[in-house]
Amino acid sequence: MIDYKKYNLDLHYHSPYAGGCSKNITIPLLAKEAKIKGLNILTTADLFNEAWRKHVKEHLKYDQKEDIYYFKDNEKKKEKTYFVLGCEVECKKRVHNLIYFKNFDVFDDYFKKLDNNIIGLDTYGSGRPRLRFNCKEFLDFSLDFNVLIGPAHAFTPYFGVYAHYDSLKEAYGENYKQIKFLELGLSADTHLANLIPELEKITFLSFSDAHSAYSYRVGREYVCCDLEKPNYNSIKDMLYKRKGKIEYNVGYNPQEGKYHRTACRSCGQIYSLSQAVNNKYRCTLCNDIIKKGVKEKAHEIAEKQGNKEHQQITNRPPYKHLVPLAEIIQIHLNKKQINHRNVLEKYNLFVSKYKEIDVMFNIPYKDLEKIDAEITKYVRAFREGFVVFYPGGAGKQGKPIICFSKEEKQKMQEKINKEIKLKTIQKKLF
Ligand SMILES: [Zn+2]
Ligand SMILES: [Zn+2]
Repeated sequence: MIDYKKYNLDLHYHSPYAGGCSKNITIPLLAKEAKIKGLNILTTADLFNEAWRKHVKEHLKYDQKEDIYYFKDNEKKKEKTYFVLGCEVECKKRVHNLIYFKNFDVFDDYFKKLDNNIIGLDTYGSGRPRLRFNCKEFLDFSLDFNVLIGPAHAFTPYFGVYAHYDSLKEAYGENYKQIKFLELGLSADTHLANLIPELEKITFLSFSDAHSAYSYRVGREYVCCDLEKPNYNSIKDMLYKRKGKIEYNVGYNPQEGKYHRTACRSCGQIYSLSQAVNNKYRCTLCNDIIKKGVKEKAHEIAEKQGNKEHQQITNRPPYKHLVPLAEIIQIHLNKKQINHRNVLEKYNLFVSKYKEIDVMFNIPYKDLEKIDAEITKYVRAFREGFVVFYPGGAGKQGKPIICFSKEEKQKMQEKINKEIKLKTIQKKLF
């Protein structure tokens, strides 16, 4: 009998060497924040960058028995933070893909053979390097190595595979079935991606793609799975559906994602697909370009692949929508910044006692109330599903609004729907 254990994984975020990332990201900070959150397995991220790789090697140790790297300060600790070697790369057409390596030997071999097919490693933002490959060439090249690859934030405009291709087969060619996972991205969830017929056998992963190491970013999306061991081989076994399984995905409500709805890229006005088509993708308010949202994109791809009824393709592990604790406190205190001193003060009161994930999903209210009764009310509202969203789109993040009863939630939802509609109608009158 195999003894499976539960692990929380976040295998996509960035080092300081990728564009737009916080400069203080380090392996020790990631390991510390992962503990606060309740994550067990992380990724090194950005491994092709030489300076970062040197830092990674300084801080990780290899555990022979478990066949995995871990944060070396954890040496004597029972609960270690494990690291899988990985990176996000950009293929032609700017499509982002994730790649994970079994160990440094595999990585070195892969890197060497890539030769001059990897470019701009010495430029700003090289943590997410560019390849001279298109997706098909990237897959075909990678098949000779012990690596795992799959599309990152597959539905995102500009950088997701479905922004440029109508199917994985079109993008990755005849070997596309060798792709075993797809990252959903913050603007999509299982429910949306499960409309797409070709994804039936592919595992959905939800990772944070964080650009900061703090626990209100890292782990804002993660996967809880049963693995034989906390290592690459067990993750591979799970993705190949040989051993282990995903218990559930956790992540944003897609409405909070930046690209969920079809919207104007300048003023953020939201449109239905038919409105956007009728307006020839021009905003009626400001005349700038309307960008198709992930929601409409997923439905469109599903239809093109024959799912005319927009039905769920197969049974999937549950997807739990999460509003991170710090964001809940930020809403409660009505602060502009999530890292405002007062927000973090309250946040630290909770996470000095419990893991953040447990605060959000598991700890009884009576225990949370001892820390802060008012915030506990907000956590309760979250657990009971009384959160509505002003949806995000065209690069503008959605906004959660916390209600305290079913009735209040319903009213707020109606108000949001009306507000979105009203703006377009108003303009037409002028
Ligand atoms: Zn990306
Ligand atoms: Zn506009």
